[in-house]
Amino acid sequence: MDRHPAPVAAQRLALSPLPGAVVHNGRVTTPPFDAPSAADIAVVAAQLGRPARGVVGIAARCVCGRPTVVATAPRLPTGEPFPTLYYLTHPAATAALSRLEAGHVMPELEATLADPGIAAAYRAAHEAYLRDRESIAVVAEIAGFSAGGMPARVKCLHALAAHALAAGPGVNPIGDAALARADWSSAVCACV
Ligand SMILES: [Zn+2]
Repeated sequence: MDRHPAPVAAQRLALSPLPGAVVHNGRVTTPPFDAPSAADIAVVAAQLGRPARGVVGIAARCVCGRPTVVATAPRLPTGEPFPTLYYLTHPAATAALSRLEAGHVMPELEATLADPGIAAAYRAAHEAYLRDRESIAVVAEIAGFSAGGMPARVKCLHALAAHALAAGPGVNPIGDAALARADWSSAVCACV
């Protein structure tokens, strides 16, 4: 599928991989996750602009090795339930998806759920999301709730794209569609 050309600022950056970073050859990870390294946690905190909470793994990475999606514990260290297992942390990625949301792409993608095949795939993505999360911990307060509006609505492209980046193409059809339209790609380093 076509992607928009990366911004020039992104193309000229060619950062070397972080020491110790595991690059999954464009392939991504669902549970069980390797424990995140201290370097990963530091990058995530810098991306978020706040301490990273409850990170249990790095679910997707930029081509340079830096995290793009963190896996977060279903119950935070504070005790708060946290349904969003796959959380997009990369600033350029979050900005690109925010631009799509501002451009009213969500109603357009939600309308594609009128296609029974897409609707079924989206429901399967919801179930896969819950399976992944419950393999880490079952938290009663969020049972049955995944993220991003799944299984029948489209409410947050960041959450859906994060799932698509973690699970790989072909799992979350709406996340895949959002990434296809975003002017950001994990294949082109836009880390700063
Ligand atoms: Zn990068």
